[in-house]
Amino acid sequence: MVIDTQAAGRLLMGPGPSNAYPESLAAAGRPLIGHLDPVFLAILDDTSAGLRAVMGTDNELTFPISGTGSAGMEAAFVNWVAPGDVVVIGVNGVFGQRMCDVADRLGAEVVKVEHEWGEALSVERMLSAHPAPAIIAAVHAETSTGVLSDVASIGANKGDALFLVDCVTSVGGVPVELDAWGVDIAYSGTQKCLGVAPGLAPFTANERARERMLDRPVSWYLDLNMIEKYVTGEGARAYHHTAPINAIRGLHAGLATILAEGLDAVFERHRSCGGALFDGLMSLGFEPFAQEGNRIPHLTTAYLPEGVDDAKARRTLLEDFGIEVGGGLGPVAGKIWRVSAMGETARAAHVNTGLAAITAVVS
Ligand SMILES: *Cc1c(COP(=O)(O)O)cnc(C)c1O
Repeated sequence: MVIDTQAAGRLLMGPGPSNAYPESLAAAGRPLIGHLDPVFLAILDDTSAGLRAVMGTDNELTFPISGTGSAGMEAAFVNWVAPGDVVVIGVNGVFGQRMCDVADRLGAEVVKVEHEWGEALSVERMLSAHPAPAIIAAVHAETSTGVLSDVASIGANKGDALFLVDCVTSVGGVPVELDAWGVDIAYSGTQKCLGVAPGLAPFTANERARERMLDRPVSWYLDLNMIEKYVTGEGARAYHHTAPINAIRGLHAGLATILAEGLDAVFERHRSCGGALFDGLMSLGFEPFAQEGNRIPHLTTAYLPEGVDDAKARRTLLEDFGIEVGGGLGPVAGKIWRVSAMGETARAAHVNTGLAAITAVVS
């Protein structure tokens, strides 16, 4: 048995899980009820309503997929991509690359629109990549690079294509207006700005997308034709798979916390805490990695100051200060840090604690 009391008070400033809202953790620890219990179904419906608010959509089919953000990505592709379909995918980091892998496994003709890491997606290149794609896919906030892309301008000019967006690191941290932006299919994750434990993928699809859903996707577990009957209540609330009841209760309470604070206040908290982190890191000699004007406000990506040993410094932060920050991935592994203030981590006291520790470790 691993004893984890020592790790109980970690401050999570990496873009993996952030600290969760206490109300969410408490709700996830409630006694179990059944997945067809009317009380639980009411909680599920209320969770979907909360997700519509944070995702900026009226879509009926809005619910938490059982599985992490990656399950949301898989569901977004597997229910719509048939072999030979042309799928245009913007790649400016790890998660766009993953979309290509998922689409490729489904037999799609993937049209990859590659960008330098640290750059935002080029709207023009995304729209001119193919004359008639079935799907155009983009990552709103690329967690591997710290870049926020302009998905609204892609959505406004998508033509007949379905527009699919990963908003794992944006929902709950910055305004997301899926309906206004012309997004047809989108997914998120619970453990980033929503301040909820990992395990669910908020998901939504509009009527335009639902009309084009495959009748028999290759995944049985993620087949929305079956799952939608349970989540929308159309027809019987029949058993498909057991909903992760307590994970959903945790999300329900997290969303309630966010909506009670007010979305504008929550975004402002992410913006101001993220801004303080950025300024603090720059004053310590870090250099920005993500392109100016396209930075995720709550996630700073920055080159380490000269002479700082990446692995050693992050180990000291974790072991001696109980603080986790993220390292670089792919081409920037060992060179950059990813430091975030998301969910419950986005509090001034946490940011100050984090910066004080980073100062001690890098100077
Ligand atoms: C974290 C993340 C994912 C994957 O989510 P998991 O919960 O790790 O499966 C997908 N896309 C983006 C942009 C992410 O940041």
